[in-house]
Amino acid sequence: MKRRKFLSTMVTSGSVAALGSSLRAIGEELVEQDEMMPAFFIGHGSPMNAIEDNVFTRGWRAAMANIPKPTAIICVSAHWLTRGTWVTAMQKPRTIHDFHGFPQKLSVASYSAPGSPGVATAVSQAVADVKIGLDQKWGLDHGTWSVLMPVFPNAEIPVLELSMDERQPPSWHYELGRMLVGFRKRGVLIIGSGNIVHNLRLLNHRMPNTGFDWADAFNNTLKSLILKSDHRSIIDYNKLGREALKSIPTPDHYFPLLYTLGLQTKADEVSIFNDHSVMGSISMTSVKISANSPG
Ligand code: ZN
Repeated sequence: MKRRKFLSTMVTSGSVAALGSSLRAIGEELVEQDEMMPAFFIGHGSPMNAIEDNVFTRGWRAAMANIPKPTAIICVSAHWLTRGTWVTAMQKPRTIHDFHGFPQKLSVASYSAPGSPGVATAVSQAVADVKIGLDQKWGLDHGTWSVLMPVFPNAEIPVLELSMDERQPPSWHYELGRMLVGFRKRGVLIIGSGNIVHNLRLLNHRMPNTGFDWADAFNNTLKSLILKSDHRSIIDYNKLGREALKSIPTPDHYFPLLYTLGLQTKADEVSIFNDHSVMGSISMTSVKISANSPG
């Protein structure tokens, strides 16, 4: 999309009136609801969260406990970077074990939620400016299923993944999130799954429940910007100093946050949860965007 268009939509950021064109093509199975579905950014951390009961998985469950039952879930995972943008469109997405060195019980775990070719088609048609391809090969990587398994253990809600075009700048990802806001009105739960601070090279196993000073400082800066809805500064994170560059050595775990913030409207309250650092260089900080209650 063109930069001028992005800037013009930034001015009206949050306007529900902007929903119109993106709703036009959404399929009949997605009926307009009374309530806007909340949207989330989830700090996903270790794949072991899929099968553990811990402070993070309990936090995820608590944050999503009172939302309406989703008609479908779309997850933007840090672990699916592609050329171009794709949405999973198969009837039965496979569980992808995209990690190494974890216990056998995680390697054999699977999340058997159905997909939804109909919702995938609606996603591909809802955004006029971006070509979104229908994918038949990917499935659910651990950025998606490690979060959904503890929260929706019955796996009966259709789940789709949306890939992130690795060639695009931060503003582009934010804007694509904005274009999906109509799905919130259709009962679709959209989750960005990554980590605000994510530097695996600097992981320190002697700091299981704390963060380095620079990591906590950047995380605090981001929290403050999120709560002020200063999305421009969050998009331009490379202007936030050395702590930002250390916290985001590659943007894969940061970009899902931009999709979630793009889904924010003026009616929404923003709240932070699971605000903890682990292993020195990962923050589990998560964000809830909800028009109904901040909690
Ligand atoms: Zn990850």
